[in-house]
Amino acid sequence: MPERREKRRTGGEKLAEITVVGGGLAGAEAVWQAAKSGANVKLYEMRPSQMTPAHQSPYLAELVCSNSLRAASLENAVGLLKEEMRQFDSLIMAQADKHALPAGGALAVDREGFARSVTAVIKSLPNVTCVECEVRDLPDTINGPVILATGPLTSAALAEKIGRLTGEESLYFYDAAAPIVIAESIDEAKAFRASRYGKGTADYLNCPLSQDEYRVFYLALTSAEVSLGHLIEEQPKYFEGCMPVEVMASRGYETLLFGPMKPVGLTDPRTGRQPYAVVQLRQDDAAATLYNMVGFQTRLRWPEQRRVFRLIPGLEQAEFARFGVVHRNTYINSPRMLLPTLQFINNNKLYFAGQITGVEGYVESAAMGLVAGINAARLLVGAEQLTWPHETAHGALLRYITTADPANFQPMNVTFGIFPSLNAAVSKRERKMMMARRALERIVEWRKNWQN
Ligand SMILES: Cc1cc2nc3c(=O)[nH]c(=O)nc-3n(C[C@H](O)[C@H](O)[C@H](O)COP(=O)(O)OP(=O)(O)OC[C@H]3O[C@@H](n4cnc5c(N)ncnc54)[C@H](O)[C@@H]3O)c2cc1C
Repeated sequence: MPERREKRRTGGEKLAEITVVGGGLAGAEAVWQAAKSGANVKLYEMRPSQMTPAHQSPYLAELVCSNSLRAASLENAVGLLKEEMRQFDSLIMAQADKHALPAGGALAVDREGFARSVTAVIKSLPNVTCVECEVRDLPDTINGPVILATGPLTSAALAEKIGRLTGEESLYFYDAAAPIVIAESIDEAKAFRASRYGKGTADYLNCPLSQDEYRVFYLALTSAEVSLGHLIEEQPKYFEGCMPVEVMASRGYETLLFGPMKPVGLTDPRTGRQPYAVVQLRQDDAAATLYNMVGFQTRLRWPEQRRVFRLIPGLEQAEFARFGVVHRNTYINSPRMLLPTLQFINNNKLYFAGQITGVEGYVESAAMGLVAGINAARLLVGAEQLTWPHETAHGALLRYITTADPANFQPMNVTFGIFPSLNAAVSKRERKMMMARRALERIVEWRKNWQN
């Protein structure tokens, strides 16, 4: 790694500083949060001399695809996440608000103005040094904390080193995720609980389909519109284990009946018979608020997923905490590798931030940069590491990525489905508002404790 402008004390000893690798949404926010606390920060960003397959500009915090930071309202969990970030004086939020464009209920931004301003602010900070180079080795933590925020398109050389650190089996290059359904939106009058062949406990929710229902579903699935959005390759080659359900279906009318919709070993207690086909849903979080559609990783467009998967009996009213995706995405198995402070389990001076932690989305990535930046700066001065309360959007996301089932870990957007429940009999809309109010009140109370 080329060294430029090293700061040294008179005795030749290096000043402690925070190193941030990757100047995307997470890295830029991490630099800002750490520098704001007074720490010296060195940011390594490889662009523009080396580009990723998706970035096109020399700016930090480039939005690689859509220019939307999604819903603005507090009734939406990503709106709440943004509001919590504003409470921490987030650079990404300040610049997004400054460069906002009219977009109905969403926060969309002028992408170039936004990225250009973030870059200008970071480069103007007197305690920040920006180095343009690809980091090919894991930086040493001897001189201070290191934050890895190299995102879903981490360069190959560094990804290899991260793979060695985490173990190859805990670093992923593809996100082949099935949709996740909010438990209370599943109709349990139709779906039944059982495990195949009655083995173990009845952990799965099973949605049974008759022959006619299967035909309708099959035709809708194989004619639905597919998204190419996040794929870099136009004609991707799939591993058998993460083949999109619609690709598998296109191999033949009955293929799914021997794959993810296999009915054998399952008896519908309402008919006493094996259904013609079954969609299995597996619990996805410790609180059992979310269920994963087993084997249903998909590239269908999101509105198409809603339309087609609601044809499955029991899922007619399904609400999706996240839709299925298949795209290039480098991320680690955070439930095995990270503490809720975003520190690596085997080295408390090494932090991960952004999409590489297994969150999904611009705002979620930036929020993880905020957490890592604040905690790294606190580590530098010997202050206690912060763990965000679970009732907050930050805390709910951190809890999800560090406690989800490591065997089936898939990246996650923020959604009220991962918040602790309220146990209140109120309408869905009121419940969301109550969760948002609870989160914002909790943050105020929690900050009083650690700021004193
Ligand atoms: C093609 C694509 C499209 C996406 N579209 C959307 C979307 O529309 N909406 C949405 O909410 N989310 C989207 N995402 C998901 C995700 O929110 C974004 O990728 C987001 O930018 C992630 O933020 P990050 O800071 O973790 O990574 P990035 O913003 O990608 O930042 C990582 C930075 O690290 C740099 N870098 C990588 N390796 C090295 C290295 N070895 N040394 C130095 N620098 C390095 C990169 O150049 C980059 O600037 C998309 C992802 C991809 C891959």
